Amino acid sequence: MQPIRPPYIGRFAPTPSGYLHFGSLVAALASYLDARHVGGRWLLRMEDLDPPREMPGAQDTILRSLESYGLHWDGEVLKQSQRHAAYAGVLERLLQQGLAYACTCSRKQLEGCAGIYPGTCRDANHATADAAIRLRVPNLEYCFEDRVQGRFCQHLQRELGDFVIRRRDGLYAYQLAVVLDDAAQGITDVVRGADLLDNTPRQLYLQELLGLSHPRYLHVPLIIQPDGHKLGKRYRSPPLPPEQASPLLARALRALGQALPQELEGALPAELLEWGVEHWNASAIPRSRTLAEAQLR
Ligand code: GLU
Ligand code: ZN
Repeated sequence: MQPIRPPYIGRFAPTPSGYLHFGSLVAALASYLDARHVGGRWLLRMEDLDPPREMPGAQDTILRSLESYGLHWDGEVLKQSQRHAAYAGVLERLLQQGLAYACTCSRKQLEGCAGIYPGTCRDANHATADAAIRLRVPNLEYCFEDRVQGRFCQHLQRELGDFVIRRRDGLYAYQLAVVLDDAAQGITDVVRGADLLDNTPRQLYLQELLGLSHPRYLHVPLIIQPDGHKLGKRYRSPPLPPEQASPLLARALRALGQALPQELEGALPAELLEWGVEHWNASAIPRSRTLAEAQLR
């Protein structure tokens, strides 16, 4: 017997540290089409966990961009800034169970560790005030089958070490928030950029620890600039121009390997999306981690 899959619920989860750019449009579009093709719901979550890095006005601009590109979401926008109580409760429980601990290492002390936390504070019993909170990771490899990128594995202890779930400045880490929010919103399918592929094993481990079910994952290629950098915040991309919605949606469809017919060139956003929803074929997405923007037509 086939296991029964719950009805599809997808989401787009932008961070308001900058505006949407062509790369985020590609990810949003893939997530939208993957959901709508099977009649699923598509939710929106504002990942406003880090006020100091937030760009004033970005939240509204992101919502307006999605609307002008015809990417309409279901229900209310969930804001991570409203979810601190949920994060705090789980953090407290992990601390009490000894699964997480306080770390007082300075950046300087961790230099030379090549990004792999050596476990210095594991058994030090530091107070949690003015300390980062790290999650103990098992000496195990975590693997999953990505719908586009194939099998991906990471050995949490050897490749990463115990990772931060609350920063020293008191801000909650993305890894913790994303896992709790995906579960709270009942997300069955995560579709996002391939820059997050190597975050997924951490999220699988947290889901396992907290008794949450694993969503399916699909990581779309990251759009990169000629110098190899990802498009984005660092370059202060301007907002997606509303008057460019048709050509940019057509370009994003082609970047995702969807064979948009020539006669739909110049069609309205709603028409392009209607075609996309009907013809969506996730197996046509290029099986690569990156795509050069300059090569997209
Ligand atoms: N907020 C993250 C970003 O903008 C995406 C998180 C996710 O999709 O899991 O890169
Ligand atoms: Zn430490």
